[in-house]
Amino acid sequence: MHIKKNDTVLVIAGKDSGVRGKVLRINAKAGKIVVEGVNRVYKHVRRSQRNPQGGRLSKEMPIPASNVMLVCQKCGKRTRTGARYLEDGSKERFCRKCGAGIGPIAPARQAYAKKRP
Ligand SMILES: [Zn+2]
Repeated sequence: MHIKKNDTVLVIAGKDSGVRGKVLRINAKAGKIVVEGVNRVYKHVRRSQRNPQGGRLSKEMPIPASNVMLVCQKCGKRTRTGARYLEDGSKERFCRKCGAGIGPIAPARQAYAKKRP
């Protein structure tokens, strides 16, 4: 999965194409994500103890992760992400457009650390 929770993403396919939003939830197994304000549906709810008024409830439904691209915080463009090892052997995601790091994805491992002379 190229997307993580709290990423800002741009929807590039589907009915909400062009909408920007924050990632609220991830379902890695299904390859789906929930993005704030994207794929909103109205759920009709009956009167109940918890919801004495009943009525319509607006909520976001999951969309395929392949329908979005990450928006880079550095360059502001939509971009693919890459993964690379840093000097200390930890792994991070990075922006393929400007090369800025976008946070760690794995802790440091000696085997991947650059050996110093
Ligand atoms: Zn960038």
